[in-house]
Amino acid sequence: MPLHAQETAFGIKSRLMIDRMSNTARNVLLFYFCFCACQAVFAQPGESSDVLPPPAPWEVMRTLSSDAFGGRGTAEPGGQKSRKYISQLYRQLDLLDLGAAEGTAYDRPLAVKARKSAWTDTLHGGNVCGMIRGSENPERYIVVTAHYDHLGEGRANSAYGKRHVGAIHNGADDNASGVAGVYALAQYFREHPPRHSIIFLATDGEELGLKGAKQWVADPPVPLEQVLLNVNLDMVARADNGSIWAVGTRFHKGLREPLRAAADSSALELRFGRDARVNWVGNSWLAVSDHYPFHRAGVPFVYFGVDDHPDYHEPTDDIERIDRATFEASMDLIVAAVAKLDAEFGETLTLTEGKRRRIVPKP
Ligand SMILES: [Zn+2]
Repeated sequence: MPLHAQETAFGIKSRLMIDRMSNTARNVLLFYFCFCACQAVFAQPGESSDVLPPPAPWEVMRTLSSDAFGGRGTAEPGGQKSRKYISQLYRQLDLLDLGAAEGTAYDRPLAVKARKSAWTDTLHGGNVCGMIRGSENPERYIVVTAHYDHLGEGRANSAYGKRHVGAIHNGADDNASGVAGVYALAQYFREHPPRHSIIFLATDGEELGLKGAKQWVADPPVPLEQVLLNVNLDMVARADNGSIWAVGTRFHKGLREPLRAAADSSALELRFGRDARVNWVGNSWLAVSDHYPFHRAGVPFVYFGVDDHPDYHEPTDDIERIDRATFEASMDLIVAAVAKLDAEFGETLTLTEGKRRRIVPKP
């Protein structure tokens, strides 16, 4: 039966029912309708947030890189606001809470010694950490990371902020895009339960020297020996030249085949490299972001990132300079890659080539 026929039949039936009601019943019904209408009109935005559908990754990037978040400086109001916002996203997706204490809303506090800072010795920030439990190997973990902090309004003593102190560094590509990527992965695995447990870690203090990642590796909520892989996302939106790098496969070449397969149908080209042991050889990105503490501790990693661009660490790293189709292609590729790795670990993929060193870095 076509839908409109059903509606018509129901409409006639309900009108007949109302016609047959007593006045009292009609008044009760009227009151009920008015009550529902008022509830809908006067509901406070905060109260209804739990029932709102989770935003698209693009909206997550837009929100974090808006002026209201002030450039997300560690321990600054914009940084604290970002931390809360990401916790809310995790809550909406019903991720397991891997906060430092139960009921702390995914929060793992972080104290950063800011030696360069003129106004304080210790900055208080925090990593945001949630998890989806694996269906087959819940005691084996893939940790996906992206730093949410950025340069705030440019610190007086920052090597990068000097020229633009006082201007908000929105950091849309660096690294609101990576946080959007972590969120896209959480959304995906919520719908498609992973075989291994997946930890979603939004780090703080990266711009101050990978502080959040170092602290997580030094004091992880799960045994580090059981972490199969770190997938780090840092600047994943501005693939203006049509390519994105997967760094780190030099140490575990077995990662290349599944990554290649995942990128097969992507609009972006996936490139391997940039992972020489010495920083100045071939523009190595081995030590530039949060994957490095994992690597030092012997955990295999893949770091996704695009080439530098003229807005890198400038106040002009804004969402208006990001092409949405490219951003979506990047999200799709990253999701396909992690899904593929989760599917193949222990099946066709084992990472035994590299020596697992155990150097836990000091935060
Ligand atoms: Zn970054």
